[in-house]
Amino acid sequence: MPDLAGLEVEGVSIGGIETCIEVPGYRLAFDAGRCPHTAIQRPTILFTHAHLDHMGGVAAHAGTRALLGQKPPTYLIPHENVEAFDALFAAWRDLDGSDLPHVRIPIGPGEEHALSKSLVAVPFRAPHRAPAQGYVLYGMRHKLRDELAELPPQEIARLKREGREVTHAVRVPELAFSGDSRLAGVLREDGARKARRLVLEVTFLDDRVSVEASRAVGHVHLDEVCERADEFENEAILFTHFSARYRADEIVRILDARLPQSLRDRVQPLLTGFR
Ligand SMILES: [Zn+2]
Repeated sequence: MPDLAGLEVEGVSIGGIETCIEVPGYRLAFDAGRCPHTAIQRPTILFTHAHLDHMGGVAAHAGTRALLGQKPPTYLIPHENVEAFDALFAAWRDLDGSDLPHVRIPIGPGEEHALSKSLVAVPFRAPHRAPAQGYVLYGMRHKLRDELAELPPQEIARLKREGREVTHAVRVPELAFSGDSRLAGVLREDGARKARRLVLEVTFLDDRVSVEASRAVGHVHLDEVCERADEFENEAILFTHFSARYRADEIVRILDARLPQSLRDRVQPLLTGFR
């Protein structure tokens, strides 16, 4: 299981086939193209868009959780998908003769959903062939109030004993997920560029598909990543969603050969499911 700066991230992501990125520590997953067995255990799924390889597993997720007596899952979905999403569940309820209980939360760029007391999800617009959004998950950190910065520690401790509020909460981008997106959409998003950990789709790796063709279908090409390598401020980056045309050893070889060292040191490829 890849360790991204101290956070375990697992799953599978093969362009056009299936994507499901699981973060056990946050009790969630991003997308469920086919719903891997392990993803059943994640009570929340944040969906980026409605392409089949990202959402096709949702009914299986809801149904299997119900069968196992687990709590109804929560699905964050783009506003654009609400009507068809509900129609899909209506059809599956009819076909399966079951309730498929779940909570669905429509959410769009800039809106917020609290995943827990200390973690907030905020979508951002991802340019793709379909309405799509990535997500930044912000954690809360407590920082000393600016006006107290000059005081000696004993003084701050005294104020604290007197019940004064000596810290204030600040949001820190802990994890960002691009979903399917052109690179420009990811790099213009402050939270994604600065997130401690970034899960980035890099569908195309060489000239078997040109940068222009990659952009036309709303995906990231490695050439663009190399060109804009300096803009990534992330501590750890997971490359995902490689096209099925690449083999695992080929992916590693291309990344080794092409990525600037400053980026190669921080990048891991997610190779689950590749030959
Ligand atoms: Zn897509």
